[in-house]
Amino acid sequence: MAINYTRAFVLLITLCTGSNLAAQDRPPAKLLDPDASLSAVLLGTGVPLPNPDRATACTAVIAGDRVFLVDTGRNCVVPLDQAGIRDIAGVFYTHYHSDHFIGLGEILLNFGIDGLDRSIPVRGPTGAREVIEGILAAYRLDLKYRVTHHGEKFSANIMQPVVTEYEPGVVYDERGLKVTMFTVCHQPIEPAVGYRFEYQNTVLVVSGDTKVCPEFAEGARGADLLISEVENARMLNAAVVLARNSNDTRMVEMIREGMEYHAESLALARMAQEVGVKKLALTHLFPSIPANDQAEALFIRGMNDLYDGPIIVGRDGIEITP
Ligand SMILES: [Zn+2]
Ligand SMILES: [Zn+2]
Repeated sequence: MAINYTRAFVLLITLCTGSNLAAQDRPPAKLLDPDASLSAVLLGTGVPLPNPDRATACTAVIAGDRVFLVDTGRNCVVPLDQAGIRDIAGVFYTHYHSDHFIGLGEILLNFGIDGLDRSIPVRGPTGAREVIEGILAAYRLDLKYRVTHHGEKFSANIMQPVVTEYEPGVVYDERGLKVTMFTVCHQPIEPAVGYRFEYQNTVLVVSGDTKVCPEFAEGARGADLLISEVENARMLNAAVVLARNSNDTRMVEMIREGMEYHAESLALARMAQEVGVKKLALTHLFPSIPANDQAEALFIRGMNDLYDGPIIVGRDGIEITP
């Protein structure tokens, strides 16, 4: 509840001391160039296991002056706010593992405290309504408190997104931006999709959660920038050995089952090369390594032998252009 008071408090300190504490606390709103082509900001590069360096699945895709989020994972409101993103044109969901949606309430609440007063369009495959209804139910009392307490200063609209469920195909086509939903391979989780953004002759693809498969390859074909989930089988197999040596058969099976439906790093590099991806950015890093150069170099070992283009290992908050 104290967030809006905290901001006022920081402002007060700034006024009293002349320090730039407020600027450090909260960067200014991001300037969006209406003529710019596609770019992305990684806002959540982790997986469900808590990692202080990484929020969970969330990627901002920016087309000129419009910002869209693909997924809204745990705690990604922090890198989102730090990136200066104070408004979004919509959300696209890839599937309904909770690490991909659980941050929506936090994001909307933050927008509401900031004074945003409209309903955000939310698009996703079948299941979106059920998930969003659940989030809104969890926030119902909170919304009542805030509207009762703050009156018109807090908009009820912001906590009522407009949800539309789609089958794979074109899900958005406005002002030169076309977004196509395509099926990926995250079985047994269905539906699971990725998104292909096309704008000003540039193609940016976000994989969602998937192993490497023909459907994923087709969706990513020719992309200027592919933002893909990834798993490192070598690291995970080492974890399996450790678990087996500790007679932890449950953990052995949990890791193995996790490995079944994610994109193995070397297979991903091979696929990116085959379908002509021009730049590859990695997110949803499994296992969830720390955000340092050494761990990241180990994570992508071997990928450069199979893929000619640049590989960016994602960290929360980094901006990537195709
Ligand atoms: Zn998943
Ligand atoms: Zn996931």
